Amino acid sequence: MPELPEVETVANGVHQRIHGETIRSVWTSNKPQTFKSPPETIAETLTNARIDRVHRVGKTIVVDLTRKNHHPAQFLIHLGMTGRLLVSTPETPIPPHTHAILTLSSGRELRFVDARRFGRLSVVAPDTRYQGPGAEPLTISLEDFIALFRNRKTPIKAALLNQSLLHGVGNIYADEALFHAGIRPTRHAGRLTRAELTRLRAALIKVLTEAIQLGGSSVSDYVDADGVAGFFQLHHHVYSRTGQPCRICGRPIKRVVLAGRSTHYCPTCQR
Ligand code: ZN
Repeated sequence: MPELPEVETVANGVHQRIHGETIRSVWTSNKPQTFKSPPETIAETLTNARIDRVHRVGKTIVVDLTRKNHHPAQFLIHLGMTGRLLVSTPETPIPPHTHAILTLSSGRELRFVDARRFGRLSVVAPDTRYQGPGAEPLTISLEDFIALFRNRKTPIKAALLNQSLLHGVGNIYADEALFHAGIRPTRHAGRLTRAELTRLRAALIKVLTEAIQLGGSSVSDYVDADGVAGFFQLHHHVYSRTGQPCRICGRPIKRVVLAGRSTHYCPTCQR
């Protein structure tokens, strides 16, 4: 599943390639799961709209559109497990599992390909701006960050994965951030000290920013806008390293299940 850094990498890659273009026509597949808004509404909203900006909100890719004689609109792309966005020439063979093709003024196409169909395409009502369900982890203030966890009895790992608190933080970066902050994932969120939460926010920003700089890191199906696989795995300290020696103290990394998700930590470095 692409996490925040992968989604940001894809959004930036697509932005660089297609911003300023106008969408000439829209083709959609007949697979209903993919379309959170009716395909006709998506086609009507996008046709003849100009792509001003492609960016990330949480784990959603947001395409800002301006339209002649209409209110501005936004096209939302959630990649799900295996969703990919490809900027292709029309001669490039259309891959299997293609669910949407936007033909652009340059003649190129933006294609949405999704084998497992957990990805979602939608448009927001004109004149509303998509905000996402929670706060943005890269820009939240320290005071707002601390307030998110006040009186929460869930393990801090579960709270970090709760998208209505912080949006975009997934399993890999929650584990890595807790390692760098020296906090055990099982600790009750509401009992963390101000100093610990300060370290956690800094660690979260650090691991997400590093991953964005490295171009995203998903372990399985992640491919960026050009179809190039991401590569951040080598830098993980705890995620998916059960039984391997901690890179700091050498003791084996432990795995537990929290909120239904595999959770990895060093019992010595994380307290
Ligand atoms: Zn350790």
